[in-house]
Amino acid sequence: MNHIQLSRIIHGHWRLDEWGFTPQELLTFTKKLIELGITTLDHADIYGNYSCEALFGDALRLDSKLRSQIQLISKGGIKMQSSKYPERQVKYYDYGAAEICATVERSLHNFGTDYLDVFLLHRPSPFIDPEEVAKAFDKLKTAGKVLEFGVSNFSPRQLESLQRFVSVPLRYNQVEISPLELEFFTSEMSFHCQQQQIIPLAWSPLGGGKLFDETNPTAIRVRKALLEIGGKIGAKSLEETAYAWIFAHPLTIHPIVGSGKMDRIEFAVNATKLNLTTEDWFAIYSAALGHEVP
Ligand code: NAP
Repeated sequence: MNHIQLSRIIHGHWRLDEWGFTPQELLTFTKKLIELGITTLDHADIYGNYSCEALFGDALRLDSKLRSQIQLISKGGIKMQSSKYPERQVKYYDYGAAEICATVERSLHNFGTDYLDVFLLHRPSPFIDPEEVAKAFDKLKTAGKVLEFGVSNFSPRQLESLQRFVSVPLRYNQVEISPLELEFFTSEMSFHCQQQQIIPLAWSPLGGGKLFDETNPTAIRVRKALLEIGGKIGAKSLEETAYAWIFAHPLTIHPIVGSGKMDRIEFAVNATKLNLTTEDWFAIYSAALGHEVP
């Protein structure tokens, strides 16, 4: 079976509405990403109060060749309270088959495309009916509207129990991974990904900016370790060492870079050329834990 190939570095569009790009500027920015080898773009229907997919769609419509050069990930299932949905009284999740299909249709419409490369369930729901998910995923797959599927923020057990009902492989779990968020390593998640060949997609690889917080004691410890190790391996910034720490892990973790600034995105690209030893990796891990490993 042919799998789609995501770029090792993914660019995240959660904050796209804050960057103030015109469609033409966003097109130019995206072409630069492609030149850097960053061809996979991460979205969710809710980003920017339900606006980011359409903002990207406006850029995509300017160049008919662009769609075939990128892979689009989107996520759905969270029903946020929003001025766009004034009838909603409470935030909730909906993974009914009809609603999943309608969510994907809206994303396709927003992007102005006829397929998503990857669709993920955004968060685990206490109200999920896996047979409904199976029905929706089969329908979307058969219609060619979604090529591959996965989940986000699911525990290994949640993912496994969903997979028992769903015939399409759940190939991805998008979870928070950074030196400030170690649950992927301290829980069973990394072992589960290894065992089931699930590709981990790392959201907030710089802790969503928390890595630069002058008042956060963990960030202070981690920055010190990143600078020390960075000096050894020839990194030009602590961000490069933070990304190199993610790349060094034996699982092929794909960081989702969230910056809207090209020079900051390039730190991730430079990091692919840096090599951390196992000891270097643990120096940063121990700084993040706040103690040495047992
Ligand atoms: P991130 O790369 O960890 O953080 C990006 C933020 O850090 C931006 O606000 C950026 O600001 C700031 N930043 C970067 N370098 C900085 C520096 N040197 N000094 C100060 N601030 C700096 O990632 P993220 O944006 O939190 O998340 C990445 C992507 O993951 C999102 O776009 C989204 O696609 C995905 N995501 C998924 C979930 C989920 O539940 N599945 C949750 C959250 C995010 P500038 O733009 O100014 O550089």
